[in-house]
Amino acid sequence: MPLKIPPVTQSKFAKLGIRTPFDLVLHLPLRYEDETKITRVADLVPGESAQVEGEIIHSEVMYRPRRSLVCQLQDDSGDILYLRFLNFYPSQQKQLAVGKKIRALGEPRMGFFGDEMVHPKCRVAGESIPLKQALTPVYPTTAGLPQPTLTKYIHAALTELELDDTLPESILQRLRLPEFASSVKLLHQPPPNIDENALLERAHPAWMRIKFDELLAQQLSMRVHYRERSQRVAPKLVAHNNLTDGLLKDLPFALTGAQKKVWHEISNDLARPHPMQRLLQGDVGSGKTVVAALAALQAIENGYQVAFMAPTEILAEQHFLKLRDWLKPLGIEPVWLSGSLKKKDKTAAAERIASGDTMLAIGTHALFQTSVEFKKLGLVIVDEQHKFGVQQRLALRGKGTEPHQLMMSATPIPRTLAMSYYADLDVSVIDELPPGRTPIVTKLVSDARREEVFERVRAACMEGRQAYWVCPLIDESEALQLQTALETYATLTQIFPELRIGLAHGKLSSAEKAQTMAAFKGGELQLLVATTVIEVGVDVPNASLMVIDHAERMGLAQLHQLRGRVGRGAAESMCVLLFQQPLSELARARLKIIFENTDGFEIAQQDLRLRGPGELLGARQSGVPMLRFADLGEDDKLLDKARDIADEMLRDFPQEAQAHLQRWMANEPDYLRT
Ligand code: ADP
Ligand code: MG
Repeated sequence: MPLKIPPVTQSKFAKLGIRTPFDLVLHLPLRYEDETKITRVADLVPGESAQVEGEIIHSEVMYRPRRSLVCQLQDDSGDILYLRFLNFYPSQQKQLAVGKKIRALGEPRMGFFGDEMVHPKCRVAGESIPLKQALTPVYPTTAGLPQPTLTKYIHAALTELELDDTLPESILQRLRLPEFASSVKLLHQPPPNIDENALLERAHPAWMRIKFDELLAQQLSMRVHYRERSQRVAPKLVAHNNLTDGLLKDLPFALTGAQKKVWHEISNDLARPHPMQRLLQGDVGSGKTVVAALAALQAIENGYQVAFMAPTEILAEQHFLKLRDWLKPLGIEPVWLSGSLKKKDKTAAAERIASGDTMLAIGTHALFQTSVEFKKLGLVIVDEQHKFGVQQRLALRGKGTEPHQLMMSATPIPRTLAMSYYADLDVSVIDELPPGRTPIVTKLVSDARREEVFERVRAACMEGRQAYWVCPLIDESEALQLQTALETYATLTQIFPELRIGLAHGKLSSAEKAQTMAAFKGGELQLLVATTVIEVGVDVPNASLMVIDHAERMGLAQLHQLRGRVGRGAAESMCVLLFQQPLSELARARLKIIFENTDGFEIAQQDLRLRGPGELLGARQSGVPMLRFADLGEDDKLLDKARDIADEMLRDFPQEAQAHLQRWMANEPDYLRT
């Protein structure tokens, strides 16, 4: 029985991601070859793959221009086609001996000798050998696994597996989608007269069905996990408003409408006896921190502790300092915890957390190490959540009772991405910036005009404002990145002898970093030369100019984040993107997007189109099964339908929903059970 797969083949399959017989069904062709008809040699079109049939009338091994087997094939009409093989086996030579009748499939072109095919696929021809009835699939494969072998197993899977539909008839009809079994069969063995372009572009109804099923499975699994979570138990943290009102009263500003709205959503969630998992999205500078502080206070009002973590020391420390100021009048003193603390201080901090002596712990990943035990953890706040892996979500769950979780992200997640990969979370969006901000002017400047940029920096600083100079990103080497930062610093110090200049990079100790940042914030430094360590969260309202060197090397989200560091005060702000010529196509597209758009969501949506979801998902992707067939940039309508149908099926067709999940997700690691 063909589905008994030998271990050698299994290991090849594993390389292709094929782990079960059903995976074979979903191993879809890259393209097709048409062996269903014969083209006359006279009718061949250069560059268009075709099959010819004829007799070998000449065959010889040539040595010029290089060693090759060259045969002449003559078809019924008498025309001649050259077949050329650079690598050939004696058996091929025999197959292509003079007098043999063969079929050759390949791409004709004008060659050294005349019309020729290089390395055509050849097989014996004859009246008794029928033409193929379906297009021949060409599968993605791996070394040592020839197409015929792969094809054989896929055929076997298609005939032997149960491919009954998992969608109820009524839904199929409403969506006007074809059946599952006929769809996969069509994709593996398309009939001769099919619209091949629709297949290759994945627009054929059979493709739609596969994509829909994939999206539906993803939606179902997200909804199932969401429901499971809403049945687990978490502490009810109801709003007493004694602390939160205190903070609101002390703040030098009033919350924006958008902040009020999301705060309301979060406050309601916390009061429920089930763990919140809410993603708070808001563009850079939209004011997420104060919302996080309010959430923390609502937990503390109920006698529960809060863990607040950020991906970098700079950012975590900034939160620490800010919250310490804000909460001081309320008699709450946060504890600082980071990887770079001395062992003694870390132990002391951990003890204060374990004894319940402190209600709020702020820090980096170190907060999540197993040595830190909370006495009564009620809420976990994660800033820039996309920088953290699913693993870290997991680690926190392990500590005592289940806390509520608030995740924050300044990288806007496009709608389709939020609907698919983040569908297990609730989402709140701050879609309004605090008042009094002036829009940032973005300029694209070629490196050839660097001098002018120097003048701009000088002018801004002389007017009493401050500037950032962001050093180029060097992916390959951290050492090189550091070196570039040091060189840039040295150069700029020479160019601007009259300015007070600081340098911040990843290799500084956290004390040095903090000192530099404090000096910049306090206005002692006028120009800050920095690597991308300042990417997230740094808040200096008086800084109104940002220069990003070699901007073409940076991703869109990163550029948007960096640009968000200016425009935080009342002064008109500018972001200069210095780029090196010539620009690659992708770099040009990126710079154009960042130049034309200021709305983070729009930028993210375009980024998704440009690069696919991988980058945007960041750490999340490591644990998430990626979509293989559907494309979030293009299949947004299908995704909308999948979401609606997922709800309908869970409600009205639970068995079918289960069967669908079983078929599509049986293999996936249970990444969401965190
Ligand atoms: P982000 O969402 O990027 O984390 P922050 O929380 O750092 O933004 O807020 C950016 C700046 O705006 C901070 O200086 C903060 O104190 C200030 N801010 C926040 N909310 C308001 C508001 N409603 N009115 C005025 N300023 C605000
Ligand atoms: Mg922030």
